[in-house]
Amino acid sequence: MKRLIFVIITGLLLNCSNNHSQKKEAWDVIARQEMVQTQIISRGIKDQNVISALLKVKRHKFVPKKYEKLAYIDGPLPIGEDQTISQPYIVALMTEKLELKSGDRVLEIGTGSGYQAAILSLIVQEVYTIEILPKLAETAKKRLKALGYNNVYVKCGDGFLGWPEKAPFDAIIITCATPEIPAPLIEQLADSGRLILPQGEETQTLTLYRKIGKNLKKEELIPVLFVPMKGIIREEH
Ligand code: SAH
Repeated sequence: MKRLIFVIITGLLLNCSNNHSQKKEAWDVIARQEMVQTQIISRGIKDQNVISALLKVKRHKFVPKKYEKLAYIDGPLPIGEDQTISQPYIVALMTEKLELKSGDRVLEIGTGSGYQAAILSLIVQEVYTIEILPKLAETAKKRLKALGYNNVYVKCGDGFLGWPEKAPFDAIIITCATPEIPAPLIEQLADSGRLILPQGEETQTLTLYRKIGKNLKKEELIPVLFVPMKGIIREEH
């Protein structure tokens, strides 16, 4: 009898502690499901790979601790150094528009927190990402490694120049605003490759290009607001 009571009490205690740890785990899972439903699917994102990546990547691990609980809101957030992590919907839209395939190799300009790179890494084979600010590049590199995103390669440098040693890329995503596409990036885009960027300065339009032979086919999407591209591009204007 004593033994039976012991077993029941132990069982109850174990069950309690399990429930407790499940509850602790669950807030971000629920927050991501809600984010995907209300901000992503409801606005027309259909690509299942994009949806599943947004459900998986723990966005709260990509923002400063004080913003952790705000990580799933419908907007951008500061990540230090006067830079921001983009709104989840914009991340989803840019990713979907690139029409990615599992074997693709993608170049990102503007690593920032590393969130967009993590999303891409779940969809394609390899992600190369360049960040101009050393502090952000270092933090993103460590973060992506700690979270197990092993197919993302982070480099600190001016994205204007691209990553010629790793070209050609099936897709290029620029996550800082520039009036023109830097010429080296056009060169490093594979034939039939897609490139998306916030194009402009004070007013910007999310713009998608498709490379067909030597030509670029242009499609303007929606107005957006990104931080400006720094570095060489400024010297040219
Ligand atoms: N994709 C990021 C958000 C990008 S914010 C994320 O998922 O968090 C834009 C980033 O572009 C900033 O971190 C900024 O420092 C970087 N940036 C600006 N000019 C750049 C350049 N010439 N080359 C590489 N990165 C640049």
